Amino acid sequence: VRRRVLSTDEIVDGILAGDRTILSRAITLVESRNARHFDQAQDVLSRLMPHTGGSQRIGITGVPGVGKSTFIEAFGKNLTKAGKKVAVLAVDPTSARSGGSILGDKTRMNELSIDPNAYIRPSPSSGYLGGVNRMTRETILLCEAAGFDVVLVETVGAGQSETMVAQMTDFFLVLMLPGAGDELQGIKKGVLEIADLIAVNKADADPAKAREAKREYSSALRILQPSSHHWRPQSIMVSALINDGLDQVWDLINQHRTIMENEGEFAAKRARQQRDWMWTMLRDRLLETFTARQDVAGRLKALEADVLAGSTNPTAAVEEMLGLIKSPQK
Ligand code: GDP
Repeated sequence: VRRRVLSTDEIVDGILAGDRTILSRAITLVESRNARHFDQAQDVLSRLMPHTGGSQRIGITGVPGVGKSTFIEAFGKNLTKAGKKVAVLAVDPTSARSGGSILGDKTRMNELSIDPNAYIRPSPSSGYLGGVNRMTRETILLCEAAGFDVVLVETVGAGQSETMVAQMTDFFLVLMLPGAGDELQGIKKGVLEIADLIAVNKADADPAKAREAKREYSSALRILQPSSHHWRPQSIMVSALINDGLDQVWDLINQHRTIMENEGEFAAKRARQQRDWMWTMLRDRLLETFTARQDVAGRLKALEADVLAGSTNPTAAVEEMLGLIKSPQK
């Protein structure tokens, strides 16, 4: 059955009333490639703006198998039991390629997915980082307007998506496996720089190894420049499976929040994120609009091939493309 199109008023009122069916449909609008849907989503967002910003935005990352879904299930249940409303969003820009995201899969969070105070949304399958970035930010706003107190944004430990999630959240939690050493290599080093807290998971399985990993991450964190003078990221041991240490994670998140608020850093960070987001979106939209022009699209492909073949240099190609901006659109 074809669903009746909802008016902007109906969507706004529904979300403010906490109607999750309408919330889901609004998120679908935000994720749509249709221009009319895009416009309506932007109208909805503008109207809801005064009702946003009220949640704790928490980013969670870790390699596949580290225990993200186990953690979110247990952590989320702890929160809903304490009376909080929890939204879980997933970010996986690779999902389009791999044919379906494993993140945010409801079957991975059995209890939380049927909890009336929780809402789980899988990653949008846009396939490109800029698209997923916008959709996730807008989805956070929609969830906040719908009354969610905590928004957990889960991402898989894969390159840029972690930085992206750190840039849209207040607190960034990195889950690690026991048995450090190799873990400190390569890409994970970058992730230490954006972590507010490292939790070595599965401490129940091998406490000695977990303790060793915790120590290694602690010393690695000590030599990094912390992103705030008022918060020194630390590493702790947890066990998502037996719900051990998860209270401590929540305590630390709240300590961080209190300190950041008292020092005026909280508002400043949110404001900075808004500004950076404006520039990111402007860049994306300009590029999108420009490359969608028919005269541009055709020439761009040809120039790209020339640059690849070495018959044109990148500077000359860019100069020619910029020349098209000044010429009227064909
Ligand atoms: P994800 O891929 O990061 O979402 O990881 P999962 O949550 O699916 O967990 C991967 C595997 O590790 C599953 O078999 C979990 O049961 C197991 N696991 C997760 N957390 C723990 C833990 O704290 N202790 C132990 N022993 N196993 C865990």
